Amino acid sequence: MGDDLLSLRNYIAGVEVEPKRGTWFEVFNPADGSIVALAARSGAEDASEAVAAACDSFQRGVWAHLPERARATVLLEISRRIRERREYLARTESTDSGKPLADAEADIDEAAYLFEYYAGWVTKLGGEIPPVGPHAMSLVLREPVGVVVCITPWNYPMLMAAQKIAPALAAGCSVIVKPAEQTPMATLELARIATAAGLPDGVLNVVHGYGMEVGEALVDSPLVDMVSFTGSLEVGRRIQQRAAHTVKKVTLELGGKSPNIVFADADLEAAIRGSCFGVFWNQGEVCSAGSRVFVHRAVWQDFLDGVGGYVNQLRIGHPLEAGTTMGPLVSKEHWDRVHRYVEVGLNEGARPIFEGRLPDDPRLQHGYYLAPIVFSDVTAEMTIMREEIFGPVMSIIPFDSDADAVQWANDTPYGLAAAIWTRDIGRALNTAKAVRAGTVWINDSQPAPSESPWGGYRQSGNGRELGRQGLEEFLETKHIYVNLKA
Ligand code: NAD
Repeated sequence: MGDDLLSLRNYIAGVEVEPKRGTWFEVFNPADGSIVALAARSGAEDASEAVAAACDSFQRGVWAHLPERARATVLLEISRRIRERREYLARTESTDSGKPLADAEADIDEAAYLFEYYAGWVTKLGGEIPPVGPHAMSLVLREPVGVVVCITPWNYPMLMAAQKIAPALAAGCSVIVKPAEQTPMATLELARIATAAGLPDGVLNVVHGYGMEVGEALVDSPLVDMVSFTGSLEVGRRIQQRAAHTVKKVTLELGGKSPNIVFADADLEAAIRGSCFGVFWNQGEVCSAGSRVFVHRAVWQDFLDGVGGYVNQLRIGHPLEAGTTMGPLVSKEHWDRVHRYVEVGLNEGARPIFEGRLPDDPRLQHGYYLAPIVFSDVTAEMTIMREEIFGPVMSIIPFDSDADAVQWANDTPYGLAAAIWTRDIGRALNTAKAVRAGTVWINDSQPAPSESPWGGYRQSGNGRELGRQGLEEFLETKHIYVNLKA
């Protein structure tokens, strides 16, 4: 491995360790295609070492058996230290993922808040004493699930890691994180921060590498009690199948093909802005991207005009440059994938009506920039309407009745999120109830407050993150029965 590059080692039992086989992989900056780091290309041996460290810390109770208020104090300290490192973490995240710096800063702020939010829960987690008659007592306790493997994607590397780690630690679990190979940097820094904040060694471990090489070894381990996964449908399915061998608990946050419905009575300006934000934000690399846009025919032309204006003012450029609103896609492979979808759309007869401008700065010619595109003349059967593209591609279809809008919105195997734009409260709530999705936004798109549950219906996943529900995923329920007659 080169000495001049940043080396991202595994983080096991509070120590940075090299991969056992001595293999590394390159981490790219999507803004210009340069190599920014070498990361440990871990295998099954590294997975075993991390699992052993996590099991050891859990069995010794160095975290799970700490007084609740002591655990809360450590989580608060992690939050404080994330804020202290905000600028470094945000630049790292932006360099790793390609997201504009301001967006990366917002992610870091929310990650810090998540540790604060779940610190509050630690001292408020109680059980129950259900009534079981005068001569007995039932105590229902909430206990940590145990050793948890968290596998994260590359689109919100730090935020997705925090969304899993903060509640898992609040519950008293020991954790092994496998960050996405494209974006390993901030997660490693988070582990260092946690140790500096007082988290005992072995409670939070990080193993870098590819899914097939180290991810599966972690999922397969009989010593792991739970897998919390965020990523694609294909991989989620595979993880669920493999985890079935050891009957471990699995939560899945998968993809989406979220509908965005604009009724004729909507505040059109807000609907245009929100609908465009919903699919172009974060380069369209958002699980809940509102990629299928249904617009009532009465406002169709005005809506299109507004979308054209929005696309024109998008500033695609270097993510660290002030004023950039859209950065590059995360990797060359992902660029190829999204580009292929655009070609498939054209071949299937969709009509491109607006396209953004690529940066002309020669320093960016090796970056993975892709012009945002809006398709009309789209039908529900087209590939671009059915499959998750995960890029800045909007497809628009006009509708005539509320019933059509709902039927088309639900015509997908996914069910992560949906946005509804209308001034009519009855229509808004009726539509919200009729759409099968884990989150429905009314007159907004994309907010995912840390206090409220997040997750998918149908093939968008199992389980929930964020809020109280996100914490409960990391808790087991134990019932103790006492015979008072004895
Ligand atoms: P991905 O499924 O390719 O990879 C996700 C993670 O899984 C990575 O860490 C990867 O290394 C690992 N992995 C890959 N194969 C594995 C295997 N066989 N066993 C174990 N681990 C394996 O997804 P991605 O391309 O990184 O992320 C994009 C996807 O994530 C999109 O589908 C998006 O919708 C989804 N996503 C969902 C949410 C949500 O909250 N529902 C949030 C963000 C992203």
